[in-house]
Amino acid sequence: MRILVAEDDVTSRHILTVMLTKWGFTPLVTEDGDAAWAALQQADAPKLVLLDRNMPGIDGLEICRRLRLTESSNPAYVILLTGQGEKEDIVGGLEAGANDYVTKPYHNAELQARIRVGQRMLELQTHLVEARDALAFQATHDALTGVLNRRAIMDRAKAELVRQQRDERVLSVGMCDIDHFKRINDTYGHQIGDEVLVGFARRLQEQLRAYDYVGRYGGEEFLVLTPLSCGGDDTDLYERLCARIARVPFTTTAGEIPLTVSIGVVASQVLCTVDGLIADADAALYHAKASGRNRVLYARP
Ligand SMILES: [Mg+2]
Repeated sequence: MRILVAEDDVTSRHILTVMLTKWGFTPLVTEDGDAAWAALQQADAPKLVLLDRNMPGIDGLEICRRLRLTESSNPAYVILLTGQGEKEDIVGGLEAGANDYVTKPYHNAELQARIRVGQRMLELQTHLVEARDALAFQATHDALTGVLNRRAIMDRAKAELVRQQRDERVLSVGMCDIDHFKRINDTYGHQIGDEVLVGFARRLQEQLRAYDYVGRYGGEEFLVLTPLSCGGDDTDLYERLCARIARVPFTTTAGEIPLTVSIGVVASQVLCTVDGLIADADAALYHAKASGRNRVLYARP
């Protein structure tokens, strides 16, 4: 584990470097506050920090304060190094945001023990952040296909519509429904049906641009959002999507399964709501189904 050391006293710095290395850490050593602060700005900055209270440049307290102001959900663990009899400094340091302090001259075993506490705290923090991120992902993504779930794609649609209307642009919404999906489930079973859904979602994603969104709206229904700069080039996108689904069969453990999709597309107007757009896309999709499937139909404004 890497540890950032900021210490202006050469003897103290040397002792720290030797001890930390002996204990299996990789010290990144700086000689003043400015260099320490610069090192802490790096994306891969060490999370464990040994900070001298008094240094030239930015002092230890100020670095603590700045760290706490800028920090994310995964903050650094800071141990302040103070001279003896600097009780006010210790209180000030903890209030400025330090996690712990060690007084000089160092009692080696104590220093090591306190560093280990910091290491444990950071490990715990990392696990919590990972768990939180995993939960956030689960809350917004469809468990089977990995695309946005219904609530998340609707939230995105609302946000994108506001953004596009503000910029006087067009948001186009495509409701994509796999044709005769029930037949696949009935013929091959639900497991193969799931494989088809996963493959279908992946193929949708492959066709979209970085700023488009796809979400699972319901069973075999997927919602695509394409924010456009001027309107018009979404026609190609949906036609291409539809053609590609029909052209290349889906590979499953039960063999290759041909598939087609029907798509209802609507472009946003100046005054419209997401619910209105969905209803219009649904109506266009209904007509696409009724007129023979495997096609794209556009809702008329
Ligand atoms: Mg000093």
